[in-house]
Amino acid sequence: MSSACCSASPVAKEHLDHALGSAPATVEPAHHGRGATAGDRADLLVVGRIVTGDPSVPTAEAMAVSAGSIIGIGTKADMDALVGPSTTTISPDGVVLPGLVDPHMHIWTSLLNLTWTELSHRRYPKFDDVVAAVGDVAKKAAPGEWVLGKNFDPSLYPGEPVLTRNALDQVAPDNPVLVMNASGHFFYANSAAFAAAGVTDDTPDPPGGVFGRADGRLNGTIGEPPAMMVMLGPLPKPTPQDIATGVHEILMAAARRGVTSVREAATGSIAGIGEYALLHQLNGAARLPVRVSTAQFSLAGGKSPAEAAADWAAAGVTPFSGDEMVRADAWKVITDGSNQGRSGYFMQPYLGEDTGGKADWTPEGLRGALRVGLDAGWQLMVHTNGDAAVEFALEAAEELLPSYPGTDLRHRFEHASFTTDDQLTRMASVGISPSFLMNHVLFWGAAFRDTILGPDRAGRLDRLASAYAAGLRPSIHSDYNVTDIDPLLSAHTAVFRRLQADGTVLNPAECVTPEQALAAITTHAAWQIHADDRGTLEVGKRADFAVASDDPWSSDPESWPGITFHETYIDGTPAFQA
Ligand SMILES: [Zn+2]
Repeated sequence: MSSACCSASPVAKEHLDHALGSAPATVEPAHHGRGATAGDRADLLVVGRIVTGDPSVPTAEAMAVSAGSIIGIGTKADMDALVGPSTTTISPDGVVLPGLVDPHMHIWTSLLNLTWTELSHRRYPKFDDVVAAVGDVAKKAAPGEWVLGKNFDPSLYPGEPVLTRNALDQVAPDNPVLVMNASGHFFYANSAAFAAAGVTDDTPDPPGGVFGRADGRLNGTIGEPPAMMVMLGPLPKPTPQDIATGVHEILMAAARRGVTSVREAATGSIAGIGEYALLHQLNGAARLPVRVSTAQFSLAGGKSPAEAAADWAAAGVTPFSGDEMVRADAWKVITDGSNQGRSGYFMQPYLGEDTGGKADWTPEGLRGALRVGLDAGWQLMVHTNGDAAVEFALEAAEELLPSYPGTDLRHRFEHASFTTDDQLTRMASVGISPSFLMNHVLFWGAAFRDTILGPDRAGRLDRLASAYAAGLRPSIHSDYNVTDIDPLLSAHTAVFRRLQADGTVLNPAECVTPEQALAAITTHAAWQIHADDRGTLEVGKRADFAVASDDPWSSDPESWPGITFHETYIDGTPAFQA
């Protein structure tokens, strides 16, 4: 969903509205840890190979935990004074690491197609294999059962081939097939799907939508939400239980990659306050497997920024409110679209076009959206994808932020995918840190170089090394479900910048050291989500840790994508076990 990334996909909204409409209207934090303060004796002693993430004391033999807080870490002998009769000792089967942090992912917009078959280029590097995969799913399905696919990205295959109605009919003659383009702006369907949706060669296009045709006959491509929603009509609507199950599955998928904290990057985009209230309700029923920091969407529920801000405030959702598992931390504003979807905002035109895209706001509109967040005391989280979007948002920030001095809000630019040296320097001076969607390089780097932007601009993608050099504290993120939550894979990309398409390196000058890459998924990511009590294993921090098959700090970075996670713990309590 790369073009729809961060924004409220109207398709997802339409499909999920009903189930999310039953979300609670009031926010009731569970406070699982309420009243517990750390004592001077450990209730938990973790013994084994411990990696702290703290460069001054990189490893330890034992870690003492009281009421979820680390009260000692060092040698086993160091911990003797902290152990009492009620101390439980565990020896995890693997290396104990600080829990990883994904500082930008999406729960709600990812629910639409959570259970659909993955048809990404990463999974199927050859186009013919995408078609074959659809056929395989259809063969296993009962006649008439829907075959649903997602993340198909024609821009990554030579000649940009699409899935045609005829091709899908051939591999799935007895099942309706609907495949979503990775941009979120197109579906591809077969004859049975059109029949189920009541769409014929003679059906007029709805305003703003297109049923693609060749010689007057539907060709299988369905463009833009008004037409896409027609195709979703016959699908069963998700129930509130489906939503609850989906949220749990998404967070468990993060935990399986060693993650203990995430930032949900557009909370309220579909159902407004209800999304945040529902997270608390789910956490109250059973502690969530991952801590969730939320960015309140400035257009929550389709309202204006001022109306949305008033709604959040009226519901008691103020900066840093919530509890230790679900906390409202930021104000999300989007300034442009997706670069691979050619809707990012650039100073120069896209290859083969005469435009470089446009901003989502007028300059005054953007200032208004940002001011509303700043007035309420929120950290700003501003989606800026193209270099002109960075400039547009930076000019607004440079004008506004001096009027809000003395705060440590750690404002962020999201993706900041293409930046100039000057922009990075100015971001540092105005107090804005970038969070990069690092796997843009791995999956789309060749497309940016060859077909979308050209080699010079493509080299300026995700400038992690330059961000460090400018004195910034950058993080890297998944933007799930644009890419999977897999921080060590993202960190691997940050070190090597190797393209999946051809194995070449995209601008080696932007490769970072292993330590810098790991900081971007631990300490800096934690700092950016205002989780100063996480990111390393040190006295005074929360006992949020993962048990891994190897230590990324001391192993060859080439091996990082193969590191597996057996368990995660939050506040010293198991959150995920394989
Ligand atoms: Zn996003």
